[in-house]
Amino acid sequence: MALINEHFLKIPESCFFTDIAKRVNTFRVTHPRTTILDLGKEDVTLPLPRVSVEAMHKAVDEMAQKETFHGYAPTHGYDFLIDAILKNDFVPKGIHFDANEIFITPGSKEAIGNIGDLLRHDNSIGVTDPIYPLYVDSNVTVGRAGSLEKDGKWSNVVYMPCSYENNFIPHLPEQPIDIIYLCYPDNPTGTVQRKSELRKWINYAIEHDTLILFDATYEAYIQDSDIPHSIYEIKGAKKVAIEFRSYSMSAGFSGLRCGYTVIPKEVTAATLAGKRIALNPKWDRLTRIKFSSASYIAQRAAEALYTPEGKKAVKEFTGYYMDNARRMKESLTGTRLQVYGGENAPFLWVKTPDGTSSMKFFDQLLYETGIISTPGVGFGPGGEGYIQLTAFNDKRTCDEAMRRIRQWLK
Ligand code: PLP
Repeated sequence: MALINEHFLKIPESCFFTDIAKRVNTFRVTHPRTTILDLGKEDVTLPLPRVSVEAMHKAVDEMAQKETFHGYAPTHGYDFLIDAILKNDFVPKGIHFDANEIFITPGSKEAIGNIGDLLRHDNSIGVTDPIYPLYVDSNVTVGRAGSLEKDGKWSNVVYMPCSYENNFIPHLPEQPIDIIYLCYPDNPTGTVQRKSELRKWINYAIEHDTLILFDATYEAYIQDSDIPHSIYEIKGAKKVAIEFRSYSMSAGFSGLRCGYTVIPKEVTAATLAGKRIALNPKWDRLTRIKFSSASYIAQRAAEALYTPEGKKAVKEFTGYYMDNARRMKESLTGTRLQVYGGENAPFLWVKTPDGTSSMKFFDQLLYETGIISTPGVGFGPGGEGYIQLTAFNDKRTCDEAMRRIRQWLK
């Protein structure tokens, strides 16, 4: 008899985002004349940059010839992409890695979701709250998160609240935590941390022997020059942090799949006997067991993003959404909504007025303006009292949505 993983059963049967989709469907059916404007999109909508498409055409032709065919990609990924990453993402910032400290992955989700396999089930974990749900869910399935309590929190997870009260900068935990997830620029709040703030986390990690899992999926959206794009811009981070990167949001690779993970050689975890084990070779071994690197075609498409034309395309891609975010924020400024984020990330994090719950405000917005948002509570208990509006739609839709909201609030 096959026994089920009981921890997996702790994951609520229906996903929050499926429930939201059902609510939207009900509205669609009951209001067939309303043009619905979707500012709840959690995925990009612009097509792939031309330069990547051309690189893929070429790669497909290579795959069609015996002499240039590519089978399984090397575990770390192809040298041509790793070289481009080192030269463009790190060297200009004075950060040096060896090629084998980079692992090309299908995306950051695959890496973040699997990294926990290298770590004992009883490590304590800390997350900022609200949070991208993958960090907690991937710990629930292996029993590391404990059980779901009535307040929507998992019993073994330390939540570090981020709200307007602390300007979305979480306080350092009072107790030592084994593993901490950080995401900057942050999904869902769209907020960032400056070097001086991130330095505190690295110092904390060094002091308490904490492993930091740093999700930099949205780094390409950073506009301010003093916001770090990589955790390794902070001295000491190479000892305590793993970083996850992705081309999904910077160039529309969410369906194509390509990203990378940096595991510096210095990063270790301990055995119960106190022996330090380097995680880099262990991740190499784990990826051989569990999945493959991104396809040759996807890696050629990613490499093309580092050409001058590719860099311009990434700027245009992210710039389009950042223009939307900027106009959306400007539009809502001066209304009775308090709006955060939107300056270095394509999300607005909006405080619901008069203590209205996230779900209620989501419904009001949908039924009174025809706009889809995402209730903040879907990102954890700390998201209660907020909604998220994303800028991943076309300019006209974003502008019309803002017009409707302003009109509605009058
Ligand atoms: N991390 C964050 C914060 C995200 O928002 C997403 C996607 O929405 C991911 C990771 C996953 O990205 P990828 O497509 O690279 O798996």
